[in-house]
Amino acid sequence: MCDTQEGGTVLWLRRDLRLRDQPAWRAALEEGGPVWPVFILDSLIEETYGAAPKWRLGESLRSLASSLKKQKSRLVLRSGDPLKVLRSLIAETGARCVVWSRLYDSMSIGRDKETRSGLNAQGIKVLEVNSSLLFEPWTVATQQGRFYGVYTPFWNAVQHRDIGQPLGSPGDLSPPDNWPASDSLSDWRLGAKMGRGAAIVSRYANVGEHAASERLDRFIVRGIGSYKSERDYLGLDSTSKLSENLTYGEISPRRLWYAAQNAMEGKRNAEVSYFLREIAWREFAYHLLYHTPRIIDKNWRSDWDNFPWRDDNEDAEAWRRGMTGIEIVDAGMREMYTTGTMHNRARMLVGSYLTKHLMTGWWVGEAWFRECLIDWDIASNAMGWQWVAGSGPDAAPYFRIFNPELQAKKFDADRRYRDKYLAEGRRPPHPNALNYFKAVPKSWALTPGQTYPRPIIDLSTGRQRALEAYRQYRNK
Ligand SMILES: Cc1cc2nc3c(=O)[nH]c(=O)nc-3n(C[C@H](O)[C@H](O)[C@H](O)COP(=O)(O)OP(=O)(O)OC[C@H]3O[C@@H](n4cnc5c(N)ncnc54)[C@H](O)[C@@H]3O)c2cc1C
Repeated sequence: MCDTQEGGTVLWLRRDLRLRDQPAWRAALEEGGPVWPVFILDSLIEETYGAAPKWRLGESLRSLASSLKKQKSRLVLRSGDPLKVLRSLIAETGARCVVWSRLYDSMSIGRDKETRSGLNAQGIKVLEVNSSLLFEPWTVATQQGRFYGVYTPFWNAVQHRDIGQPLGSPGDLSPPDNWPASDSLSDWRLGAKMGRGAAIVSRYANVGEHAASERLDRFIVRGIGSYKSERDYLGLDSTSKLSENLTYGEISPRRLWYAAQNAMEGKRNAEVSYFLREIAWREFAYHLLYHTPRIIDKNWRSDWDNFPWRDDNEDAEAWRRGMTGIEIVDAGMREMYTTGTMHNRARMLVGSYLTKHLMTGWWVGEAWFRECLIDWDIASNAMGWQWVAGSGPDAAPYFRIFNPELQAKKFDADRRYRDKYLAEGRRPPHPNALNYFKAVPKSWALTPGQTYPRPIIDLSTGRQRALEAYRQYRNK
């Protein structure tokens, strides 16, 4: 326990921007002194977050600050090196303890280790807790004590674990009498790189803890009972859409898990259990990120290191702009630019198309998703891209190339998804499809009245090229 006799606790919030089921808040309050919640904009955020995640972070901070205000607390905003910022806050407040929720990527782990040592060295105690995962990476191991590199055994190892009950919201946030100065959120200009996209994406974002809870409740009532059967259909609104909330910690995975397990009582279990499996995919991504940090920037399977993937190129630019001429691919890319998220099946499709038909490295797609997704998650994005490309864990064999046309026939038979995100030739176009043209940079010179492009590559030619490259590579 922290020794708070001299004056309370600084709660360093990061990707845990909520009050309910928030162990870091609980730990800070249990220390008994006043609690100063702070968010620090540091170089790691500046350098790793793309335009949309940064903008969405700002929205989340605004929402949390407003919730704290209602409970007579505040969110102190500071920027700079976390150790320096925390030292200065300690000097200003007299706090003797700092609490934060753990993060699992190597850059954050390194930063946190340095921060903890620096604080400990001046006699400040540090408490690190888990607020973001159901199963922290080191708590799941094979019989040989190794990490899991394949999903199904990982799932088997965790599916029956007791995760405990979610915590309630703290009633009294133990606000101090004196508040240190705070930066102003608008001065941080977190949305600056979004350009005109921010106004459009904000129409689709579901920001904050309250909105996340409502979304979960709705999904449990209306969606979870048919989740397994419907989740792959692109035109249906059948998944939880909670990823953006999980990303910023506006809701805990434990609440999703717990709600789904309760729903098992009254619903078709196979449907619900599939949802639990998907939540566990997020856990698996963090398991891999922690044990194999290279997953974010190197081929997870090093035998892919010399595969002749192309770096960024003109075809990839057409892909980014939703102008490949393959409708289902372009619909996915435009969905992402317009709404800040993309249906999971579309993510797999556009990923397969980029890495196989266009023979472009997964890192090009990973970077664009990091730029555009409001649910950007360092672990799930890296795992998703490497999975799709074939270089990652649990990946489908490379020669299993998604056929966009067959996928469209199967998962968008009524064209609802394509009509929702493509304007060209539709009379009248769907409002979402039109919004795409309002969101993209003017320099792209795209208009809804333009002619839809011809395919930049014939699908069977692209497929043959990819298979041939794979065959040659394997033969080497
Ligand atoms: C190339 C690629 C990139 C991806 N990038 C991201 C990303 O940056 N952020 C992100 O949250 N997800 C990412 N995913 C996973 C998945 O597409 C999204 O989590 C899902 O579409 C979110 O929608 P939902 O909340 O409605 O999910 P639901 O179907 O309702 O699932 C519930 C939750 O389970 C988790 N989940 C579901 N599927 C996966 C999966 N395949 N991998 C990991 N977790 C999963 C998510 O936290 C999700 O919110 C990526 C997948 C691929 C193929």
